[in-house]
Amino acid sequence: MSRTLLSVLPSPIRRRRKRRRKRGRGAGRYRSCDGTTNPLVPTASSSSSIMAPAAQGYWGRSTSTIDWCEENYVVSFYIAEFWNTISNLIMILPPIYGAIQAFRDGLEFRYICSFVGLAVVGVGSWCFHMTLQFKMQLMDELPMIYSTCVFLYCLFECFKQENKIGLFPIALLSIFSISVSALYLQWKEPIFHQVMYGILVACLVIRAIYIVTWVYPWLRPLCYASLGIFLLGFVLWNMDNFYCGTLRYARNNLPPVVGAVTQLHAWWHIFTGVGSYLHILLSMQIRTTYLKYRPKVKFLCGVWPTLHIEPQKMS
Ligand SMILES: [Zn+2]
Repeated sequence: MSRTLLSVLPSPIRRRRKRRRKRGRGAGRYRSCDGTTNPLVPTASSSSSIMAPAAQGYWGRSTSTIDWCEENYVVSFYIAEFWNTISNLIMILPPIYGAIQAFRDGLEFRYICSFVGLAVVGVGSWCFHMTLQFKMQLMDELPMIYSTCVFLYCLFECFKQENKIGLFPIALLSIFSISVSALYLQWKEPIFHQVMYGILVACLVIRAIYIVTWVYPWLRPLCYASLGIFLLGFVLWNMDNFYCGTLRYARNNLPPVVGAVTQLHAWWHIFTGVGSYLHILLSMQIRTTYLKYRPKVKFLCGVWPTLHIEPQKMS
């Protein structure tokens, strides 16, 4: 409709059109707390014409600063982003099993913390995607920082004496975590959180590559499998942000279950869940090898890798 024709429409119709345009722009974008969009982040703006209207569900109006590409309340009235929610199971169940196994094997507390940390991220992410409430968003994002700090501690302290606690790295990582949390609570800027998380992951990757290059080269396959799977998840996360319009168009034209495959943020959960789990196994294998235990990889149901430690040390 032309601009001239629009100007002669009765004002309620004009207002309705404005409202509709506003809703289309908001979906799938990063939003600040006051509801404005963040111009620094790539969005799905090219597809505003096919954006679904902001559906309301059990949890009411979304207060999170981010709303992902999955359309809200489409599958269930009780779950805002259904696929982005249930895909977190992979980040919850295997780490719980891992924590129990690490406890049974008498491994150091830091490895139980690593598995529990990953499971907490999964639970936080579940709550966030289910409700799209800002408080739940924090339950997802802040544990990502804390759990990665635990991973870093494990990998940087792996060549120390058994059960020795590194007070300096703990203090350093605690100061970092507290500062990031305080700044993020004040600023509420998703990019700040993503950059801080990226810095921690980069440190972890550099340390892991250093160890498998110079100390335990036979652990390269596990290290690169973990990194590769995590990286694939990151690529899909970006694609979900950049090509949201195309993905929504594709899934609207596919049968429901097949369309679910295009939920790339859900795939990000799956790949980062598996990548992080494999990273903890790598970290445990490095540590137990250094301490001269006998780590053994076993496959649960012939598929899922777990690490078992035999009680006797190698001579
Ligand atoms: Zn997520």
